Amino acid sequence: MRLGLTSTLVLALAAVGFCRVDYRVKVVEGATAIDVEMVIPSDGKPVVVQIPNWAPGSYRLVESFKSVNEVTALRASRKVVVNRLDDNSWEVSGGMSGDIVLRYQRAMGSAIGNRLHMTGPANLMYVKGRVKEDCTLKFDLPAGWRSTCGLEVKGDGYVAPDYDVLIDNPVTIGIFESDFYELKGVKHEIAYYGGDVSQVNRAAVIDYCKKITLLQDDFWSGLPFKKYVWHFTVMNAADGGWGLEHLSSTTIGLASGLGQGTVGVMNHEYFHAWNVKRIRSKALGPFDYLVLPKTGALWMLEGVTDYYAHLLLYRYQVYNEDYMKSRIIRNVRTTRANAERMNVSPYDSSYRVGEAANGRGNSAGFGVNYYNTGWVVGLCLDIELRDATNGKYSFDDVLYQLWEECKDDQSGFEEHRIREIMVEMGGERMGVAYDTWVMKPGELPVEKQLEKIGYRFIETETTFADLGFPVSWGTDGRLVVSRGTRDQEWRTNDEIVEVNGMAKGADAHVTEHVWEDWREMMKPGATLKLKVKRGDEILERTVAVKEGKTVDTLIEEMKDASARVKALREGWFRGPKNGGSPWWFPRGRLLFVADK
Ligand SMILES: [Zn+2]
Repeated sequence: MRLGLTSTLVLALAAVGFCRVDYRVKVVEGATAIDVEMVIPSDGKPVVVQIPNWAPGSYRLVESFKSVNEVTALRASRKVVVNRLDDNSWEVSGGMSGDIVLRYQRAMGSAIGNRLHMTGPANLMYVKGRVKEDCTLKFDLPAGWRSTCGLEVKGDGYVAPDYDVLIDNPVTIGIFESDFYELKGVKHEIAYYGGDVSQVNRAAVIDYCKKITLLQDDFWSGLPFKKYVWHFTVMNAADGGWGLEHLSSTTIGLASGLGQGTVGVMNHEYFHAWNVKRIRSKALGPFDYLVLPKTGALWMLEGVTDYYAHLLLYRYQVYNEDYMKSRIIRNVRTTRANAERMNVSPYDSSYRVGEAANGRGNSAGFGVNYYNTGWVVGLCLDIELRDATNGKYSFDDVLYQLWEECKDDQSGFEEHRIREIMVEMGGERMGVAYDTWVMKPGELPVEKQLEKIGYRFIETETTFADLGFPVSWGTDGRLVVSRGTRDQEWRTNDEIVEVNGMAKGADAHVTEHVWEDWREMMKPGATLKLKVKRGDEILERTVAVKEGKTVDTLIEEMKDASARVKALREGWFRGPKNGGSPWWFPRGRLLFVADK
């Protein structure tokens, strides 16, 4: 047995030699590239390094290899040949065993200012076949600069248990503003890496971040990370935003007005720390960074994330009921505006995302969008499960069960688990719902589902005279084209001054009397002779009026709903725990912070 023991020892020693890749990134203000150095232990055999072609969370090919230049390598301090194998791969030729020092430049596209946000996949290469090794990350920065990210700090750098974790923690670098808070034992940093920070109410941002931390900690019964970083770039806008989720951080384009949609984006990205990052389908990690993953679950991982991002803000009274209803309407209308919903299932929208954009992926879905479609599927399944179990179970419980099966670094879930869990809770009826709404294309039965919680979804169609462009009768009394046509035949602010020989009159205003007469003439089917003022010019135009249609949607409470139905809606709103009774606010409708 001695021989066996010896060989085990040799293997163990070899394994120790291969256990870590050290990264060092040098950033210089004003430079147009960063310098990356990797120290790779080697046994003398050739080593292949690769740059990812896509980033987890964004399912499209990005061709980062085009920005990688000057790849060189040393073995035992001697320069060795590096061969480009293909777009994404470089091979360091064999030689002496010991450390390989690989260096390359990553072009940034423009000169680096005094702040930089460095994402992992686009900038840091990996050693092929060795992504499970420990990593360290250090920076050489100009005097006065600092860095922050979700990775554990050790010494003067960061450590990660493997490459997947390393690159799922983008780094904000430079001279930047931060705010800090600690809740539930977890230190949070709010780092502003871009935009005009003075435009945003930082106290309000801290307040929203804290609320999101508290409400999600409550919903999930604990936080899954040891630290968390909100990386923000401020955009000059009243509402909205964009974001990308990471393991223990997020990168968000934050509208300076901090509208309700902006808070929704923040809650969405934080929710991803569970749903998609840790509760993930098997295809989503470990990754092949050169090929887009094939998973049919993005309707759940993205769409349902967005559904819960909004539902939780409503439950915890950051949103009021009207706003929640408006989100339901918006997602239903966006989903139904796409005719492809009759041809592509929510599952296929996700599974085939890599086929979108001529095989480059689009991070939104093949044929139909898995965000809004998944949102509506989530709503329908949630209500169905509540109805099937008399309120005993909901989609909350499906998420909790998946969390049990995925947490603490367990492997991802098999995609049929979502169906199985729902059937376990709500019976075969839930299987039918899943097979119909997730696996097949078609219209989602929103009206029927909402009635199960006492809401009536009402669409009313109204017709209008369509001139081919929108007009507005402004407070200055002029009737103008409010949006020009693409062919430039009509331009924004063209003013209509005469209709069928009837002029607007001597003064600048279109009087109510004239407006009434004009409207009488602007009937569908009519042909109008218009005089139009564009600058100093008067143009003559003939327009055939068509019949346009718009749909108004509202969600109305059913006054005649049964006590059971009302109880189901109450459960949907309150959730299983403290939802609906937030401890940080008095009850009642909450108003958003409007002042800067
Ligand atoms: Zn998302």
